[in-house]
Amino acid sequence: MIPIQNTEPTHWTDELVHAVKTPSELLTLLGLDDRHLPSSQNAMSAFKMLIPRPFIARMEYGNAEDPLLRQVLADDIEMQPNAGYSQDPLDEGNHTPQKALVHKYERRVLVIAAGSCAVNCRYCFRRHFPYSDNQLAQQEWDSVIHYIEANPSINEVILSGGDPLMLKDSLLSKHIARLNTLPQLKRLRIHTRLPIVIPERINAELLQWVEDSKLDVIMVLHSNHGNEIDNIIAKKVLQLKQAGATVLNQGVLLKGINDTVEAQVALSERLFAAGILPYYMFTLDPIEGGAHFDISIDTAQRLMGQVAQKLPGYLMPRLAKEIPGEPAKTIFAPL
Ligand code: SF4
Repeated sequence: MIPIQNTEPTHWTDELVHAVKTPSELLTLLGLDDRHLPSSQNAMSAFKMLIPRPFIARMEYGNAEDPLLRQVLADDIEMQPNAGYSQDPLDEGNHTPQKALVHKYERRVLVIAAGSCAVNCRYCFRRHFPYSDNQLAQQEWDSVIHYIEANPSINEVILSGGDPLMLKDSLLSKHIARLNTLPQLKRLRIHTRLPIVIPERINAELLQWVEDSKLDVIMVLHSNHGNEIDNIIAKKVLQLKQAGATVLNQGVLLKGINDTVEAQVALSERLFAAGILPYYMFTLDPIEGGAHFDISIDTAQRLMGQVAQKLPGYLMPRLAKEIPGEPAKTIFAPL
């Protein structure tokens, strides 16, 4: 048992302040010594480390191969150049009609609502995204609203980031109230990993704006391994559902972390037990720095074929990949 689990509920912003930012502190908390410390200085300069303590509390003490640890520990292997891996693998730079707005698909628009996350995942496809050029100032929400109004086919807004739940609830509530006034909109989707790494982010203020929303709210969580899901998260998901949200999960297939039948089955079972439906399992976007997590589409399809033999259909996430220029995500059938 890791002696850092906080039994008292804390405010989520305190968890951000106290998040672990260096490999040595992280390994000390897990009872691991320098032997397990990969060379990490260059990787940390390229993409800083950030891990909230409630997430660390779900790592296995003394296990250098822990699948949660491996997702967040900087490693200089990230600095090795690999052909075919780029800084903008989804070509988002060419689908940004205006600041912080990505309009790739016909009826939905994605807003980069926040420029940071509560955790820095080493495989992140936006690890090189120029967030500083895309910070959405308050008045720039006006131009987002005007863009949506000028494109009446848009019926869904996706708040992404970074992590949109990094914004204060007072601000989120204000933005969502404005979206609520647009009659063309039906749904508000929120892509977030924050409730997984800091469950206390699901607080009374957040539940209130979810409940007040006139749009259907879909909270798409991001979890990659069954060990990330515990009964604290299950309790928070129940509150979200009681406030009217639909709660789904999307994960990323990561070599050495969740690329086994056992890991995938356990993830789907744990998600369902916590009230979350598996939605997508993405193959890694070819991001510079993430190649060591990648597995081929063929391997992924064969893996998901074996997983499908063990799970009912409603627990099978769709194996998907975003291919730049395609009008929708490409779905790959399990083999
Ligand atoms: S939470 Fe999501 S956006 Fe943030 S670093 Fe992790 S994968 Fe990237």
